[in-house]
Amino acid sequence: MKRILVTGGAGFIGSHLCERLLKDGSEVICLDNFFTGRKENISHLIGNPGFEIIRHDVIEPVLLEVDEIYNLACPASPVHYQYNPVKTIKTNIMGALNMLGLAKRVRARILQASTSEVYGDPKVHPQPESYWGNANPIGFRACYDEGKRCAESLMFAYHRQNGVDIRVVRIFNTYGPRMLENDGRVVSNFIVQALRGLDMTVYGDGSQTRSFCYVDDLVDGLIKMMENDGVAGPVNLGNPGEFTVLELANMVKRLTSSSSNIVFKELPPDDPVQRRPDITLAKESLGWRPLVGLEEGLLKSIEYFRSRISPASGLSSL
Ligand code: NAD
Ligand code: UDP
Repeated sequence: MKRILVTGGAGFIGSHLCERLLKDGSEVICLDNFFTGRKENISHLIGNPGFEIIRHDVIEPVLLEVDEIYNLACPASPVHYQYNPVKTIKTNIMGALNMLGLAKRVRARILQASTSEVYGDPKVHPQPESYWGNANPIGFRACYDEGKRCAESLMFAYHRQNGVDIRVVRIFNTYGPRMLENDGRVVSNFIVQALRGLDMTVYGDGSQTRSFCYVDDLVDGLIKMMENDGVAGPVNLGNPGEFTVLELANMVKRLTSSSSNIVFKELPPDDPVQRRPDITLAKESLGWRPLVGLEEGLLKSIEYFRSRISPASGLSSL
């Protein structure tokens, strides 16, 4: 039986990953500082003899005996990662250093959750892994983008210098149940606004594009990447379906039968204009491709948020 460490395991993606790894028969240690994670995301796993939770911040070293490490600890929503940019940089860089040090010491395989943000505001479309990106090193997103870019550099430096067994994935916009209601990311914002009958806030004119991957598909890709013996990465994981933000708003409004108005707000600085993964490498090297289409995934997410929100009061049911 493998013992697997998931940092950021109480977060949106991390909690789905812990659940899946346990189901597949591994022991799972979920490590989290609960900045954007919630105990509630993993409460159903407590009591499973293979599951442990550690409250810990990845900027501090940790000593554990594990076979694999999924390093997911880092807030992913622009609102949350820009709240304390210095902390975001520390989480990305010191977190990667500490987890790589651990992987080196116990000879564990380590997978780093990188991001499509390493491509910045891309000038190549769709984005292949060979593209070096167009990121602003001093902008509001830099704490996240450059933090993740440096974490990738650290992964490859430890691999070349110390022979650490690394895997790097670049995750594109992922959505689904357990995103925070006040997360600030576009899918959760639109669904929560639509269900509450509030204005749906499209930033800019809504012509910017994103590609949305359902969380179950993403988790499947993370595990396939960890288990493959041939490719260190980086490998893009995302759904190549590309939609404008305005198309997404209209789709959510239709699927929720909402009477909300769509309103236009100021575009945040450095908001990437277009984003779509080239997933040829993931298909060919991992045999992975996403299976859940946007409408199907949105319906599952809407069901989740509907169960948490009381539309009449406009208040969360929690
Ligand atoms: P999330 O914010 O829901 O989860 C992040 C988790 O990390 C939370 O549980 C949080 O409490 C924890 N955390 C943050 N800082 C920490 C620290 N210093 N020490 C310990 N724990 C810490 O975000 P998510 O969407 O689940 O993202 C998970 C990972 O995937 C992140 O690394 C993110 O950068 C990456 N990613 C996500 C997306 C996406 O669309 N969801 C896209 C690209 C990359
Ligand atoms: N966005 C929006 N309304 C919102 C939240 C986000 O129009 O209420 C836009 C945002 O400007 C960006 C896209 O949706 O163009 C995706 O934003 P998100 O924060 O989900 O992730 P990003 O890909 O920008 O990191």
